[in-house]
Amino acid sequence: MAWPGGQWAHLYKEFSERASGLLGGDPGTESEMAERVNVLPFFYGNITREEAEKYLQQGGMSGGLYLLRQSRNYLGGYALSVACDRMSYHYTIERELNDTYAIAGGRSHGDPVQLIDYHSQESDGLVCLLKKPCNRPRGVEPKVGSFEDLKEELIKQYVRQTWNLQAIISQRPQLEKLIATTAHEKMPWFHGAITRDDSEPRLLSPPRTNGKFLIRQRDSNGSFALCLLHGGNVMHYRIDKDKAGKLSIPDGKKFDTLWQLVEHYSYKPDGLLRVLTEPCSRPEGEGANGISTLPPLPRNHPGRDSTGEGILSRIKSYSFPKPGHKKMMARFRAKTTDLNPYATRLENTKHTKEAMPMDTEVYESPYADPDELRTATVDRKQLILEDGELGSGNFGTVLKGVYKMRKSEKQVAVKILKNDDNNAAVRDEMLREANVMQQLDNPYIVRMIGICEAENLMLVMELADLGPLNKFLQKHRDIAVRNITELVHQVSMGMKYLEEHNFVHRDLAARNVLLVTQHYAKISDFGLSKALTEEENYYKAKGHGKWPVKWYAPECMNYFKFSCKSDVWSFGVLMWEAYSLGLKPYKGMKGAEVIQMIEGGGRMDAPANCPPEMYELMKKCWTYKADERPGFTVVEPRLRDYYYDISQ
Ligand code: AMP
Repeated sequence: MAWPGGQWAHLYKEFSERASGLLGGDPGTESEMAERVNVLPFFYGNITREEAEKYLQQGGMSGGLYLLRQSRNYLGGYALSVACDRMSYHYTIERELNDTYAIAGGRSHGDPVQLIDYHSQESDGLVCLLKKPCNRPRGVEPKVGSFEDLKEELIKQYVRQTWNLQAIISQRPQLEKLIATTAHEKMPWFHGAITRDDSEPRLLSPPRTNGKFLIRQRDSNGSFALCLLHGGNVMHYRIDKDKAGKLSIPDGKKFDTLWQLVEHYSYKPDGLLRVLTEPCSRPEGEGANGISTLPPLPRNHPGRDSTGEGILSRIKSYSFPKPGHKKMMARFRAKTTDLNPYATRLENTKHTKEAMPMDTEVYESPYADPDELRTATVDRKQLILEDGELGSGNFGTVLKGVYKMRKSEKQVAVKILKNDDNNAAVRDEMLREANVMQQLDNPYIVRMIGICEAENLMLVMELADLGPLNKFLQKHRDIAVRNITELVHQVSMGMKYLEEHNFVHRDLAARNVLLVTQHYAKISDFGLSKALTEEENYYKAKGHGKWPVKWYAPECMNYFKFSCKSDVWSFGVLMWEAYSLGLKPYKGMKGAEVIQMIEGGGRMDAPANCPPEMYELMKKCWTYKADERPGFTVVEPRLRDYYYDISQ
């Protein structure tokens, strides 16, 4: 995909600022939650259970004395240590899927602080009420885990090296998780899929330090083995993955990642013959498994890192499939499925729930392979239409189809103009739509594959199988706010692209956002869209048409003036539709009444359960004067920040 230099530089700057902020500990880049918890005087960071007990003892062990620390086995989780009757008790606080926090089997709370407040009133299963925080002694800061530095370094390297920043920006929380769950591949103790017999000479080679260890991959179901040298013998412990993706030695503590498991058994035997001491390093030049099965990267490939073909290159190939690399992608997916629980979930849900946009067929431009789509016309012989309508309009119908290309097939949506004698105007409109679409190439915009002139005029497009956003939300009312924000943010990215390329959409509404997956939205319907000229940053309509008045800014109605700023107004209405789970805006009101309300300074109320930050942004989009209204260059980063904050 060709990236306009300006946009690349701009995105790079934005993202690297955030990434370097992470490294520098800029609080603005941390999740609100981590920030809030980190400043609590009774939060100790990544300390062990024993260290927690030591602090409680120093604090006097009075009944109900408590402290909070970071979980060392669950990503994003915490642990609560409480003193009662001169004993210490420890509770894991898990971060649940919908971003709430709970002690296993207990009530869910918005954050760990609320959980602590609750247990200061109700013991509800806890050994006693939480009475007094055990604050950090003077000069003691929350302890930073060893992985944090590595993770941030990986993200920073990744940002520096990749060219597709738009993808990282929209998917950063997922990438962080992917990095966390595959980071063990960077560790010298991870030897990949070697056999038990192969592992023993490695451990028995000098130095024969007690506690020398390595981890190998046992099979493709996510099972590993911990191999440990003790008294001249090698012990092999199985590490199994349960249904939830948690890793454990039989009957042992459960972990989200292998590095957390290693960290734990490095300070405590906890059922093993002894603690892990010295990592047994992989033989020089050998990449960990999974990586070495991928085609090697060229020497100067930016994805190469200190372990040869490392995690960065894997994520890179994962995120940005190049045409013709489908097989490699398939192998990569198989491998990540073996190696990390998150990928297993991705695989099991087959692009419906958790798949990242770049994991779908329609992320990469169909024009990316020079041997495939060269022209904007589609040969009818290569197009197979299927039964079953995807949708319809006054132009005709939209059918699902398959476009057979030279090397591969592509599922498509085909807009078919109905054949009647007096539809010249509709035909023109469809050709104009095709003309606009042909000039656009962005992952968050439905791309045109081509025009096919056959028994009917047909517009062949990328398929967005899950249909319009408003209808999807009406049917999936349990969708998480984070998911809605993710989709709305993607729309803002597509709109920012349009703004940067001087196009106005003029019909931006939830009905015209189509979903590829529950986590991937694309803007569609360019029937009313216009390319702006160099001279004017707006389009002036000759007169009123059949307009979607409830989505239109005052200047559209009063002066027929359409600009990117009027698209921002529509985007505010689209946000309202999204957070209200697909309700119709200005319910029960006629167009004229809506205009009157807007002119009188009235605006829609916040949808039920809408995050206040998002309602504030909607109201900004509904700034009366276009000049004072923010553009998408302001709206998109606002959404992005909020999305990151609630995703971490
Ligand atoms: P339109 O006139 O472009 O709004 O299309 C009418 C309906 O057809 C939409 O509301 C969708 O349900 C369906 N549709 C249009 N384009 C696509 C597409 N690219 N993929 C899937 N469905 C589509």
